[in-house]
Formats: sequence, C-alpha cells, structure tokens
Amino acid sequence: MPYETECPSCSGRGCDDCGGGGSLRLTGCPRRTIPRAAWEMLDAAELYEKGLPPEHGGTLDQAADFVRAARFVWNEEARCKRQLTGDR
Ligand SMILES: [Zn+2]
Repeated sequence: MPYETECPSCSGRGCDDCGGGGSLRLTGCPRRTIPRAAWEMLDAAELYEKGLPPEHGGTLDQAADFVRAARFVWNEEARCKRQLTGDR
C-alpha cells in the first residue's frame, strides 16, 4: 500500500525534491530505499538526544552539519508523532 507524506524539504510548498507536488509517495519498503548513511544518522541523532554525542565533548565540539542534521531528525520525528496522534 503506497504511503504519501508531506515533503520534508519544502513542507508541502513544492520544490525540486518533490517535483513541485509538495508530497513524497513511498510505494515500497523504505528500508530498501533509504541509504545506510541515513539510518546511521537516525541512530546517531537518537544517541545524541540521550546525551551521547558522536565526538567527545559538548555541542560546540560536534560538527555543525551533524548538529543541524540531528535537529532535522528531531523535528521530523516530532512532526511525524503529531501527524500520527492528530495533534497540530
Ligand atoms: Zn518539496
């Protein structure tokens, strides 16, 4: 069964990533289409949220791109949870 979700790149406004439609449609298992690096980022963001950053030290010791990616993951998780529970 296909699954359609709002495009995370443009929040539904339409962009090159979603072909202008504002949504992404999954027609197969996402585990087969999402690259290993993305799964690793999800794991790293979860550990970081629990206080276990990938690099020794605090937030300023982490790569800026990693911190931005972790925030993206947390925001997407929160959005998905709101969508699943019907909260806005
Ligand atoms: Zn888009």
